[in-house]
Amino acid sequence: VGKICRGVVRAGKAVAENTTRTCDSSTAEIVAAGAKPSPLDWFRDMVPHCLEYARSAKEQGHPIVGVMCEFTPRELIMAAGAVPVCLCGGSPKTIPSAEHDLPSNLCPIIKSTYGEHTCKTNPFLEMVDLIVAETTCDGKRKMYELLAQQRPMYVLELPHKADSIQSMIFWENELRRLRSELQERFGVEITNDLLHRCISVTNRERRLRRQLAQTMEADDPPLSGRQLASLRSCISGTAGDLRKYQEVLDWVREQPGGGYADRTRVLLTGAPLAHGAERVLEIIESSGGLVVCMENCTGVKAILEDVDEKADDPLMALAVKYFQVPCAVMTRNDRRLNTLRGLVRRYRPDCVVDLVWQACLNYDIESARIRELIEKELGLPFLKIETDYTSEDSARIAGWIEALFAVTRGKPRRR
Ligand code: SF4
Ligand code: SF4
Repeated sequence: VGKICRGVVRAGKAVAENTTRTCDSSTAEIVAAGAKPSPLDWFRDMVPHCLEYARSAKEQGHPIVGVMCEFTPRELIMAAGAVPVCLCGGSPKTIPSAEHDLPSNLCPIIKSTYGEHTCKTNPFLEMVDLIVAETTCDGKRKMYELLAQQRPMYVLELPHKADSIQSMIFWENELRRLRSELQERFGVEITNDLLHRCISVTNRERRLRRQLAQTMEADDPPLSGRQLASLRSCISGTAGDLRKYQEVLDWVREQPGGGYADRTRVLLTGAPLAHGAERVLEIIESSGGLVVCMENCTGVKAILEDVDEKADDPLMALAVKYFQVPCAVMTRNDRRLNTLRGLVRRYRPDCVVDLVWQACLNYDIESARIRELIEKELGLPFLKIETDYTSEDSARIAGWIEALFAVTRGKPRRR
């Protein structure tokens, strides 16, 4: 394991150095050519920016809190004066090390995240004062037990019955317990006023990201799906990111279409694409498709609704918003079907691709209901792709995508 980790550390450093070099030279070339650098450049360097922000916050005494799921309300963490940082792993390089403790037949997000822990390659994980871990799927829940042996952790218990009042009451109480934990641990008071202010910041961020996503509704969208996917940050609500989201939005609205009108419009649903694990999205777009909407947690799933800013009880407002995340760990997850109906109406895809990470029973089993909705009710071609973080099946996936696109060609487009 030590040897694997040393290799990962060396590879990670090389990637970081190369990334810096590539970004520097591309900016220099643009400036030399007299063109203004694009506002998208900021998000290309998202990780170094977030790292700088987290280090400086930590030096000033602000705790760093790791999160790994969209059910975890960032607002509570921010109101405790802490910095919420996403720790989800997107790299295949740490997986061999993780498989020393975890089964190989496990979701790559879980293995990659745990491998960052064993290899100590995620600088954010190395600086966390606390991890808030949620009880979503079995794999994550059991992985957290191993992680908690060496990292400070609070387990947030998520009930799984989507439309039950008892579950909602339990969830609200669970968020109150998380508030108490953060207050005690960090010696602060999380007042309603502070919560209201943090909710207003995250609502602004959600609104900006939603407006950016909505530019993809156009017949000829200004961005590729890959570009849109890069417009997100692993730290929530920083002033720098909010400014840049607004700049990108203003810039994007001035752009003519991106020349994508003839591409096959794809709605991508299913499991999230952690930073670095965008391979399926890239294969779709290099095969002549355009991902006009990602329904998953790294796309629009978590930003479709805001938190009620005017609620007298902001904690209850948080509980209501976060309990509604249409994730496959919930039963029954009818909300995902309703969300998809709305997204298909708005984004008018020619087909739907459902991404299932290897060994994710939740998304795998739910895929049958999604297929039925997409093919029978909405009349669109549907493809389920089950894969992991290796690139061994890339050619096979490209073949499936080509066959899917061939089916869409005979169908009239929705305008
Ligand atoms: S897919 Fe579900 S478990 Fe995974 S990050 Fe999203 S909400 Fe959390
Ligand atoms: S993709 Fe599935 S198995 Fe992987 S972390 Fe999310 S819910 Fe768990």
